[in-house]
Order: sequence, then C-alpha cells, then structure tokens
Amino acid sequence: MEPIFGKTLDELVLIAKEKGLPSFAGKQIADWLYKNGVSTINEITNLSKKAREILSAEYEIGLYPPSDVQVSSDGTKKYLYRLRSGHSVESVYIPEPDRATLCISSQAGCRMGCRFCMTARQGLKANLTAGEILNQIWSLPEKDSLTNVVFMGMGEPMDNIDEVLKSLEILTADYGAGWSHKRITVSTTGILTGLEKFLKNSQCRLAISLHSPFDEERRKLMPMQKMFPVKDVLNLIAKDEYTQRRISFEYIMFAGVNDSARHANALVKLLSGNDVRVNLIRFHIIPDSDLSPSDEITMENFKNRLNAKGLLTTIRSSRGEDIFAACGMLSGNRS
Ligand code: SF4
Repeated sequence: MEPIFGKTLDELVLIAKEKGLPSFAGKQIADWLYKNGVSTINEITNLSKKAREILSAEYEIGLYPPSDVQVSSDGTKKYLYRLRSGHSVESVYIPEPDRATLCISSQAGCRMGCRFCMTARQGLKANLTAGEILNQIWSLPEKDSLTNVVFMGMGEPMDNIDEVLKSLEILTADYGAGWSHKRITVSTTGILTGLEKFLKNSQCRLAISLHSPFDEERRKLMPMQKMFPVKDVLNLIAKDEYTQRRISFEYIMFAGVNDSARHANALVKLLSGNDVRVNLIRFHIIPDSDLSPSDEITMENFKNRLNAKGLLTTIRSSRGEDIFAACGMLSGNRS
C-alpha cells in the first residue's frame, strides 16, 4: 500500500483523475488529510463509498506513531520513528514557557560528515519522503501546542530538497496546515544546488551552519566546505530577497578551535553589512570526539564582541543533553 499522507494538492488531484474521480476530490482528500487528521481512507466521508473503495485498493493514509520516547529532566522529549525502509529517525520536542518547538529530521543518517555530529557517523541511510517528514509533526502527541518547527534534526535538508519542499508546501499552503513561513526554519550546511531551489520555492526562514569564518578551519570541521565554500553560499543568499527572509548563522563553539578574538573579528568581517543574526551554540560532547566545548565565559565574551560590532548575536540555550537530544547528538539508535 502506498501512503497518501504527504502528497501535495497537485499530486492528489492527479491521483483522483487517474482513478476516474472528479478533480475536486483531490482537494477534498487534502482537507481530510491535513485539516481533519483522518487515519483511514474510509473516514473521508464526503467521498462516495465507491471512491473510497477504489482509493483503499492502492493507498493507505500512512500516518504512524512514534515507537519510543525519552524525556529529559528539562522537559524536552526525544521521539523515535521507525521508517518503512527499516531505518530510524528522531525528532525533538522542546517546550518553553512562551513557545514549543519541534526539531525534525529530513534524512536517516547524513553524508555531510560534520566532525561534531553523531548523525554523521552513520553516513546516509535514506532520504525521508515528505510524508515521513510531516509524520513527525502530525503524529506528535503535543502537536496542538507547537508554535515552531525547525529542520535541524538528522540529515541535511538541502540534500533531500524535493521532499523537503513538498513538506514545506503542505505545512504552509491553504489546503494544508496553513502555517506562516515565519514559524518554520530550515537549516543547512550550504549545499548550493538544494539551497538555490529552496530560495526560489520557499519563503521559510533559513539557518546556515557556519562554525568557522576561515575556509581551511571550516573544512576541517565540515568537509562539505571543500565543494561548497561558504563564500559561494553568501553570494547566493545575497541575491535572495535578503531583507524579507530571516537568515541566521549557527556557530557551535569549540574550545581552542573557533572561539578566539581572531575568529570573532573575522566573523564580523564576513557577515557585517547584512541583516543577519548569529546563534552561538554550546558543543555537546559526543563519544570518541577530540573536540570540547568552550566555557561559558568565553562564549559570553565572544557574544559581546560580536554584538559590540553590530552583529546581532545570542547564545542558544542547551536542551535535552541528558537524553542525547541536544544539537548534534541525534543518532536514531536506542538500546
Ligand atoms: S550536522 Fe547536520 S549536516 Fe552535518 S553531519 Fe550532522 S546532520 Fe549532517
């Protein structure tokens, strides 16, 4: 059976036509999938019984619940989803007093090889379909409390851009969840091919993983820098309607690696003049890594130096570290 959840309106209209149903049936199916949250095709009661039988012969809704959850002492929850392919992904629900964010995955594993990331160690196992990406939202027990979604879990979204774009369409379109683009942030290391498509086709917010202003040092942390230098990424986003979309730069701080005044000054030089913000992130130690986190005073000084030079900078609070749910710690493995 093929899942129907995760199909765009155009795809649903096509399915309706192929099955000899009127094309408006595609819109009716979309309403029931994305607004009413049905779990079986038989529940789409404004389709005729015959139409439901025809669809059910080939399709199922395809939503599935998480197979495990771990709860952090700070209230963060890490959910595990088993995919049809047999691989697993994780998503992280982060409640705060005034908002609730879900960090979702776009791939099982990842081929970007970032040195500070647990997911990188698996290599790429599978691209998620739009349905599998969105299932992490629709099957979340806390779905109704969500205010924001970030594509910062397992995988490089721009390396699976077609399915990511479909999921963004369904999240933001009137026929889908109708969310504002401002509630969604997609993170990337800067895969130019995917990024170009993203900028053309989505108004969602963008976060770029930077981690060093120096090419050679960045390449040692993020091997993809060799193919996609950050300068090319900056040139590309400079052509975007730069002021309309919020763009932020993520900067994980490693002791003695990228946390000096020299780095701060180079960051200012690289990014100044653009309306961007910088998020400093504490490194969460992963097993067998030779990297260690910068201390709090160093991070604070680094932040103050950037802010003093006009680069809007904040330190992102760490959440869920005790359950390996914090930034860079997702693996999809459970014992
Ligand atoms: S940090 Fe992101 S892009 Fe880099 S290896 Fe991990 S999941 Fe992939």
